[in-house]
Amino acid sequence: MNPPTTLSNASASTPRLSLTWLAMGFVIFVCASLICIDGGRSWTARKNQLREMQVSTANMARAIAQHADDTIKAADTALLGIDERIQTDGATPAALERLHHLLVRKTAELSQLKGLFIYDENGNSVVSSLASTPANMNNADSDYFIYHRTHQDKNSYIGPPIRSRSSGSWIMTLSHRINHEDGSFAGVVLAAIEIDYFNKFYDSFDIGESGAIVLVSNSGNLMTRRPLLPDSIGKNMQSTTVFKESRVKASGTFTVKSAQDGVKRLNSFRRLDKYPLFVSAAVSEDEILADWLTDTYLHSAGVALLVIALGSIGFYLIGQMKLRLNAEAEVIRARDAMIVLNKTLEKLSLQDALTELANRRNFDITLEEEFSRATRNASSLALIMIDVDHFKQYNDLYGHAAGDECLRKISQAVKSCQNRAGDLTARYGGEELAVILPTTDVEGALIIAEKIRTAIHNLGISHAGSEAGIVTVSAGVDAMIPVKDVNKPIELIEAADNALYAAKKSGRNRVCSNFNMMSAAS
Ligand code: GH3
Ligand code: MG
Ligand code: MG
Repeated sequence: MNPPTTLSNASASTPRLSLTWLAMGFVIFVCASLICIDGGRSWTARKNQLREMQVSTANMARAIAQHADDTIKAADTALLGIDERIQTDGATPAALERLHHLLVRKTAELSQLKGLFIYDENGNSVVSSLASTPANMNNADSDYFIYHRTHQDKNSYIGPPIRSRSSGSWIMTLSHRINHEDGSFAGVVLAAIEIDYFNKFYDSFDIGESGAIVLVSNSGNLMTRRPLLPDSIGKNMQSTTVFKESRVKASGTFTVKSAQDGVKRLNSFRRLDKYPLFVSAAVSEDEILADWLTDTYLHSAGVALLVIALGSIGFYLIGQMKLRLNAEAEVIRARDAMIVLNKTLEKLSLQDALTELANRRNFDITLEEEFSRATRNASSLALIMIDVDHFKQYNDLYGHAAGDECLRKISQAVKSCQNRAGDLTARYGGEELAVILPTTDVEGALIIAEKIRTAIHNLGISHAGSEAGIVTVSAGVDAMIPVKDVNKPIELIEAADNALYAAKKSGRNRVCSNFNMMSAAS
């Protein structure tokens, strides 16, 4: 008999668990992937935004540097022309008058110019673009004058920003040394460039609320700044990062947190090609990233909603799946229990309660089956019928309970003589037992019957009512090779029963067949 096919709790729960974990892992993986993909996209967008702004501020610095170069170059060219005129015309009153007109014209031509001035070797004003040169105007103490008086070269010189003595506005001074014919110092020709001219240009750039543009001399003087703060102009910039960077490289871009306002800025600086100045354009990183930040907030909110929705639905479905799997496992458990129960019931329905041998029903079914098989195979089928001798008397002498116990012992003894799996020992009724022996002829069956008789005899159960003084059995044996549609199982039972009757009749405690008597009472 095959063991019932059951799914144990462990084997049922393992795939259920792994399936649930797999589903949970999948939901978590999808949610994490969404977050990672959006995070990666945001980070790339941030980098791109900063890179674009880097290019933009570098371009701005290039444009501002070019503008400063061009502005100063135009004034420089004017100074060279004026110097040349002085050299050729000399300083006669008529020549000075013509020179005045030239200065006025040049100043009008170049909108960046506040004025053009010529000073003699003592710093006194000789002629200027002003309508009237102020009397006793002496600039011998000014920075540019001292520079040219003490330097032989005729290079242009840019001084620190100063306030115009005539208008009070901020100006940048660009000057040249004038020499006598013998090369000695003859004075200075000076162009006053309006700082405001630069500021107007810087106003045309979009640098946000916290951005800044600066024009700084290589010696660290802040020439101008946008936005212009009250004490900006003339401030010393030597301690700033942008100044230090500009000493190392002609141009560059870096990010630095301002020590003054704590704002982190992206700075692009560039030295002027021709003059000892550099410019820097700076934009606040927060402002650069403002749009990106808004976009990121929107995206993140969208992704968060998606993740929450996905997670909630995912875990809800997993919960449902778990319930369903639990219910399925419950059904499987119930089915297994039912199978076990059915097997038990089936076993009980085929088993004799007292002796635990096969019962009469089981005997009838098995005999029918074996009879058919023997018919099909043309093999011999043997049957032993066993009856306890004087058992009624045993009950009378020792009581019914002892009779039951005796019957159990006899049953086990008979069962122990069963050699093959196909053999069946059954309680035929009362104290009568039967053994079905497939593929066994009458000789073989007689040997087994005798073995049984001996085994019971050897139990030595006392029986005062028996001739032998112990419990004995009589057995009748028969065998046949059944023929289809001719023989029936009942014939074999009757034949074995007849042999049993013969055994009883001839003195009990013996085995008889319809062919010969095997053993007699000892
Ligand atoms: P014989 O040698 O001719 O067979 O004599 P016997 O007394 O055994 O006669 P018989 O077979 O007719 O009697 C059967 C007796 O077996 C009747 C009954 O008291 C007893 N018996 C049958 N079934 C049971 C049982 O389940 N338990 C007990 N204790 N006794 C049983
Ligand atoms: Mg009987
Ligand atoms: Mg009997």
